[in-house]
Amino acid sequence: MRTIRKCVICGCCKQKVEVPIMLSRYLGATGLDNRPCNEAELPVVQKCSRCGYCNFSIEGEISDKTRKVIASEEYQRHIKKVSDDEYGDKLQTMLLYLQSIQSRIYVYLLLCWHYEWKKDIETAGEMRRHAVQQMELAFRTESEIRVEEILIYIDCLRQLGRFEEAKETVESIETEVYKNLAEDQLLFQVYRYQKTLIEKRDAFAHTVAEV
Ligand SMILES: [Zn+2]
Repeated sequence: MRTIRKCVICGCCKQKVEVPIMLSRYLGATGLDNRPCNEAELPVVQKCSRCGYCNFSIEGEISDKTRKVIASEEYQRHIKKVSDDEYGDKLQTMLLYLQSIQSRIYVYLLLCWHYEWKKDIETAGEMRRHAVQQMELAFRTESEIRVEEILIYIDCLRQLGRFEEAKETVESIETEVYKNLAEDQLLFQVYRYQKTLIEKRDAFAHTVAEV
C-alpha cells in the first residue's frame, strides 16, 4: 500500500488538517472472511488533529448527532489515550459514533484482523464475536441479504469453532446456492470449500486462492 499526505477540510470541525491518503492497494488473495492478504493492506484511518474525529475519510458533512459524540468527554478521553496501538484505538473510537450495522460489522472485522496480526488472539476472537452479533442483527432487520454476506458469516462462525451453527447455516442456504449459482462461480466454490472445512472441523484462516 502506498500513501501520501494531503490537506483536507475536516467534516466535523471544518478546519484544514493534514491526513494520509491511500494511493494504491495490493489486492492479493483475501481470506474467506475478506481479510486482506497482509497487514499493510488494512485501510488507513484518518484522524483530525484538531477535534479528534476519526474515519476512513474525514471529509464530508457529518450529522449533528455524530458531532455531539465526537465532542463528548468519553470520545475525547478515548482518542487522547496514550497507547502503542494507534490503529486499534482509532477503530475502537469510531465505534462510539458509528450507527449503521454494515459499518459496525466492517470495523469489528478490521479490529479482529488487526489483533490477529498483533498476535492478540483473545481480543481478536472477541471482535469476531461482535462482528457475528452485528451480522445476525443485519439478517434479522435488513430486507436483502447477499450470499457473500452469509458466506462471511459462516466463515466467522467456523473460525470461532462454532461448527454446529456454521453447518446449520450452510444447510439453510443450500437450495438457494444450487438454484442461483453456477458451479464455476467463485461463490459456489467458496460455498463448497466452506462445507468441507466445517465437516473437517477446521477453524484455521483460509484464503480464496485455495478454493
Ligand atoms: Zn476536525
